[in-house]
Amino acid sequence: MSINLISDTTTRPTKAMLAAMMQAEVGDDVFQADPTVNALQEKAAKMFGKEAALFCPSGTMCNQIAISVHTRPMDEVICEKLSHIYQSENGGYAFNSWAGIKLIEGDRGKISPEQIESAINPPYDWLPISRLVVLENTCNIGGGTVYSFEEMQAVSELCKAKKLRLHLDGARIFNALTESGDAPNEVGALFDSISICLSKGLGAPVGSLLLGTKEFIAQARRIRKARGGGMRQAGYLAAAGLYALENHIERLKDDHRRARIIGEQLAKMPQIENIRPIETNIMFFDVKAPLTAEVFLAKLKEHGILAVPFGKQTVRFVTHLDFTEQMLEQTLNILKEIGN
Ligand SMILES: *Cc1c(COP(=O)(O)O)cnc(C)c1O
Repeated sequence: MSINLISDTTTRPTKAMLAAMMQAEVGDDVFQADPTVNALQEKAAKMFGKEAALFCPSGTMCNQIAISVHTRPMDEVICEKLSHIYQSENGGYAFNSWAGIKLIEGDRGKISPEQIESAINPPYDWLPISRLVVLENTCNIGGGTVYSFEEMQAVSELCKAKKLRLHLDGARIFNALTESGDAPNEVGALFDSISICLSKGLGAPVGSLLLGTKEFIAQARRIRKARGGGMRQAGYLAAAGLYALENHIERLKDDHRRARIIGEQLAKMPQIENIRPIETNIMFFDVKAPLTAEVFLAKLKEHGILAVPFGKQTVRFVTHLDFTEQMLEQTLNILKEIGN
């Protein structure tokens, strides 16, 4: 049996989730006639105090639709340089929306109102119009870092004052809320739009949600269709999402606790340094040269632990629904053995 620390996207539906999927009542969602999709969208919108929601095949599609609704060609999107919309969506802001991007070097993926303000372009006709700010919470490559409510509120106030739209890439927003204790509807009020992944820590096999005003979502629905994202009996997938929202949020704290315990063991290993602060379920650390991430990971693989490198020295571990207490014990034993 291998232990998978590659990503929280690798989870399989639980038996109970599969049962919920099998029992889903479905219809044709392109006609907005799938009761399970409708129930999921309503539940998520209500949770975050938003008027409406749209179920999409992926988080990337949610982010990309949001950028398209918020911007016009020649506009500019402001975000942190490690953010998913820049690093992992194939330049979709340019491909889909003909928008430019202004990157900010933040603190472990997080950006401040001061940094955003100085990234706003003056209104010269040779500069793109600064239109949209995107925050990521938690910041994935930033190390699973969490924005405090006050930090997000300050960004939201700046965006209102400067007439910038504000989108939250909340692929892991429930990991963030688990740590901050903030209420989803209070966080929701700070943003014009939010994307949420059901297929990360929440353990659904497929699916993400985009949230916003009725008008925003009506426009988003048209764009989703134009990009081939209109699905038919999607209720089978939405049922997994509903099950996840009802049953898999509370348990995220276990993933965070397990990550912190692994971090304590890593700190005792002579070949490891620079363990980034562990705030949620994501761990980044370096192996000391001349050892490389590749060689270290090959060693782990011999012991049945899978993970991926993020550069020559850097490794990422991610805990998730399918990483059990028993696997934690095993992982700690293997790390102890390798660390000697
Ligand atoms: C995973 C992820 C997404 C969306 O990814 P998909 O694989 O397209 O669902 C968006 N933002 C962040 C921060 C992510 O980690």
